[in-house]
Amino acid sequence: KGTHKYSGVVEDCCCEYETVDHLNEDLLHPLLQELVKTPFFRYFKVKLWCDCPFWLDDGMCRLRDCSVCECPENEFPESLKHPSHRVLSSDDLMCQEGKPQAAVDRTLDKNTFRGWSETDNPWTNDDETDNAEMTYVNLLLNPERYTGYSGPSARRIWDAIYSENCPKYPSKELCQEERILYKLISGLHSSISVHIASDYLLDEATNTWGQNLTLLYDRVLKYPDRVRNLYFTFLFVLRAVTKAADYLEHADYRTGNPDEDLKAHSLMRQLLYNPTLQSACPIPFDEAKLWKGQSGPELKQRIQKQFRNISAIMDCVGCEKCRLWGKLQVLGLGTALKILFSVDVQEQSGHALQLQRNELIALMNLLNRLSESVKFVREMGPTAEAICGGD
Ligand code: FAD
Repeated sequence: KGTHKYSGVVEDCCCEYETVDHLNEDLLHPLLQELVKTPFFRYFKVKLWCDCPFWLDDGMCRLRDCSVCECPENEFPESLKHPSHRVLSSDDLMCQEGKPQAAVDRTLDKNTFRGWSETDNPWTNDDETDNAEMTYVNLLLNPERYTGYSGPSARRIWDAIYSENCPKYPSKELCQEERILYKLISGLHSSISVHIASDYLLDEATNTWGQNLTLLYDRVLKYPDRVRNLYFTFLFVLRAVTKAADYLEHADYRTGNPDEDLKAHSLMRQLLYNPTLQSACPIPFDEAKLWKGQSGPELKQRIQKQFRNISAIMDCVGCEKCRLWGKLQVLGLGTALKILFSVDVQEQSGHALQLQRNELIALMNLLNRLSESVKFVREMGPTAEAICGGD
């Protein structure tokens, strides 16, 4: 294991890179890996149907034939399981959803998902009301990894996110709050790229998966800001989780499996009230300094609207598995924003914290994804830089 070149305090945060790495590797990563396997955290409710409100001419999103069959794993068509047995036509390349690695496996035990409250989140666009279009997805069967989604469709999504909703930094006019929105999106983008690099389809013919360090270097490491933004996003989400500790400690983790539910609750407590974490990095991000100026409330409304737009754009992602993880992680970020900026965690006002079950699942799975990315960058970064001609 090498140490990477980042040192000092993570910008706009309160902890050092080295501290984050140690805390993550010794404490957070092992805990989170266990947590996301528990029944409470592994099922996510989501409307995967592509209801893109922006580009009505987007062929990929509108093709019903592109969607994946909703069937148990054993009924999943053999032809989709083994890409090497198929001859790829140009249609397959057009329709990313036809790619087996982009398909969402919907196998799950429905009994484990019980409803919670349905309070609105001002930061996100999701309608959580149960309806026929909602599916429940077992996240463990659908890891975020390479799917083959790329080209103009993917590029259009990222371009829309950055250019329309979250202006590129550094731009002189950007205030701290806008910069933070940019960093959150960029950090999430880095994390998605890291997952593509850590679980990549190396050989389609033999269906061999593995690491792609060149991709890691080309998309993330080559741009130190992208690594810094990944650490920033990790600390931001970690702060939201620890700030909501009292609420999360008393949340209802029941899924009908007492042993597993007890485990989920116990892992949450270990994370929320951890003395090592509290002494090494007590406030991973200090939200109190934001929205202070005269224009604070107006600025908050504007940024909230921009983030809701980003949340809506997720419906335009033309690859089902990418849409699943895009929606989950944007909901996770929206939940962190809600905890830090839209509710009174101490319950001193009328805005006491209330989370939807899905928000909590998204928040913790997002934290786990970021934790995995931070670990991968720290462990493989030096090798990737050495191979690809880093510093
Ligand atoms: P892209 O990653 O598409 O980047 C586009 C441009 O954005 C770059 O040229 C650069 O200018 C800028 N940029 C890149 N990274 C950053 C950063 N961290 N911060 C700031 N700016 C940046 N593909 C998969 O294989 N698996 C997935 O699970 C997956 N999930 C996705 C989820 C979403 C929501 C979206 C929009 C796309 C997803 N994709 C996924 C596609 C993937 O993100 C890339 O778009 C694709 O691999 C093509 O990559 P690219 O090299 O063209 O650069």
